[in-house]
Amino acid sequence: MKQYLTALLFLTCFSASSGAPNPYSEKLDTILPVRGFCIAAPQPSNLGEFVKFIEEELAPRKVNTLILRVDYNYQYESHPELRDSIALSRQDVRKLVAVCRKNQIRIIPQVNLLGHQSWAGKTGNLLEAYPQFDETPLVKMPEKYVWPNPDGLYCKSYCPLHPEVHDIVFAIVDEICDVFETDAFHAGMDEVFYIGEEQCPRCSGRDPAELFAGEVRTIRDHLASDGRELWIWGDRLIDGKTTGLGEWEASYNNTHRAVDMIPKDVIICDWHYERPDQTPVYFAMKGLSVVTCPWRMPGNAVLQVQDMVKFREHSASEMKERFLGMVQTVWSGTGPFLDSYYGRRPEDNPNSPVKCFKALYDEIERLAGTK
Ligand SMILES: [Zn+2]
Repeated sequence: MKQYLTALLFLTCFSASSGAPNPYSEKLDTILPVRGFCIAAPQPSNLGEFVKFIEEELAPRKVNTLILRVDYNYQYESHPELRDSIALSRQDVRKLVAVCRKNQIRIIPQVNLLGHQSWAGKTGNLLEAYPQFDETPLVKMPEKYVWPNPDGLYCKSYCPLHPEVHDIVFAIVDEICDVFETDAFHAGMDEVFYIGEEQCPRCSGRDPAELFAGEVRTIRDHLASDGRELWIWGDRLIDGKTTGLGEWEASYNNTHRAVDMIPKDVIICDWHYERPDQTPVYFAMKGLSVVTCPWRMPGNAVLQVQDMVKFREHSASEMKERFLGMVQTVWSGTGPFLDSYYGRRPEDNPNSPVKCFKALYDEIERLAGTK
């Protein structure tokens, strides 16, 4: 008996280390091919703890996709003028790549393109260095930002028709994909409020849906030439008024018809934080692959993952594979998230990204059966 147990133990270890099929992982891949986590890339000062978090918390939960919002938190060689003052080095990124590779986690770096070129009262690095790319140069950044405001300023956009913008941003995109050794890139493209603006000599009078779709296609084609996939947030592709989803998680500025104009291999990150709306079905029926993204409400995340599994079960084979899975999103920096996760910051609110992440992955484990 002891000999049998030793042999079994040996086989179990062998199986785990050799990458041989594991029934639990196979079941997980069947019900939910993408099991993701999305957060800001760490600062150099909390890189070590974030690597530990990947190793000890993401890997055991079988997370296989890590979207890292890098933006200008990297010491770019192609455009040093765009670097944040404190930014990750190539050596730092290598540590992230190594721990993810060891644990079969695909890293997808994100740099916000088109929208989110400013935040509150602060202009982002791209428009700071290249103000000529600003879609709304007449809108001045306020001393004290408030919403709503007379300019309708949420975030600045770059002009997608500026003849020089893509030379700059694609150099950044290529460099960050190379350093992360990845075959996928997330371009953000959420909450684009300024598009086709009257004050832009190139865009005024143009159809916002065509402008948005054109930019998606330009980025997608650039990535595809290097065999890379484009991921974006889905809100600009949903009609906010008809669906009742409002002007943040859906579009009130006529970009939504772009859903029929963009290439079908763009992956949609469909975020809904207040209610578990069933919009993945809409994207899948348009021929687009989709992941559902919760944020801080555990109850919604549980319903959303149950829906995602059900959509896969109850769809024809043509549709089924477009329901890719789930991505937990975290919108604080890595530092505050890790402070909450490791109990250094009290969490009184029943809704929090930490609680949502745990509830989501507990439910995934339950749906996949016992390990
Ligand atoms: Zn323009």
